[in-house]
Amino acid sequence: MAAVKKIGVMTSGGDSPGMNACIRAVVRSAIYNNLEVYGINRGYEGMIDGDFFKMQSHAVSNIVQRGGTMLKTARSKRFMEKEGRQKAFERLKVAGIDGFVAIGGDGTFRGATVFEEEFGVTCIGVPGTIDNDLYGTDYTLGFDTAINTAIEAIDKIRDTADAHNRLFFVEVMGRDAGFIALSCAIAGGAEAVIIPETKTDIDNLIGILERGWYHKKSSAIVIVAEGDEAGGAYEIAKKVKEKFNEYDTRVTVLGHIQRGGNPTVRDRILGSRLGIAAVEALMEGKKNVMAGLINDEVVFTPFANATKHNLDINQDMLRLVDILSM
Ligand code: ATP
Repeated sequence: MAAVKKIGVMTSGGDSPGMNACIRAVVRSAIYNNLEVYGINRGYEGMIDGDFFKMQSHAVSNIVQRGGTMLKTARSKRFMEKEGRQKAFERLKVAGIDGFVAIGGDGTFRGATVFEEEFGVTCIGVPGTIDNDLYGTDYTLGFDTAINTAIEAIDKIRDTADAHNRLFFVEVMGRDAGFIALSCAIAGGAEAVIIPETKTDIDNLIGILERGWYHKKSSAIVIVAEGDEAGGAYEIAKKVKEKFNEYDTRVTVLGHIQRGGNPTVRDRILGSRLGIAAVEALMEGKKNVMAGLINDEVVFTPFANATKHNLDINQDMLRLVDILSM
């Protein structure tokens, strides 16, 4: 006997490619297990407004390959207040929904924790964020697509940089974490990487660029994580240019292009596996945990531990950038 009969599924916080694959897996596995499943539009906003609809298997046809989220996503100020959560609970109660899958980040999981404590509605989380900065999973949903999108752009930038002997500063996403930047730096053959986890030393960066210049490199690329404490790519480029002006310098900010696009195979599979795991967990009566993948096994981590981490940057990866940029 399953612990739940009617479940909801929603996406919340920032969107990430692979969310649709996950929604599809939740819907199909719920129906496979004779559960009723409701799509909740716009995350907690839609929950408060009762913006749900019953989903049949065909509702998720033709979405596994699409970026974005068919359920839309939102941040909800109202859900931060008890009054908003009370409304959300009443809406779920009327619809008879007794548990839900939330695809989002640690903020979404914090909200679900409070909600469960107050009203006893159970939630299983799936890590949907391109930043790859959550404990409890080796990869978050959307990270692989985001780095592949960024790399495609960086490869193109390299072509033009090389043609004109230019130095490019390329800003990638990562407000608090440098995982995207670090992966892009290694895969894109960047000369240097600037991330929030380490203190930025402009003179050291100039030293690396000078080394390349004297080794007759015809172009250079520095990957900058948007959240670096020394400023974004424009600011860092300006500081470097004041002391090192051998190359013609340009800045490119990749921005939201990194959030969109068709999810990679890895993200489709990750979303599918975690979506099914989340439904099975709800049926078993698990609550307040995030489904993640560690060493290719599904692992459930309590929401309290599935928090952001940005200090665990792989030092060895950082060292690789330096060696490979010789
Ligand atoms: P991302 O990683 O993309 O930022 P996220 O899930 O961390 O995703 P947030 O905006 O932090 O995004 O959280 C999503 C929503 O969760 C918030 O808009 C809010 O409605 C709810 N939420 C977050 N923290 C709490 C909290 N302490 N209490 C109640 N609700 C919360």
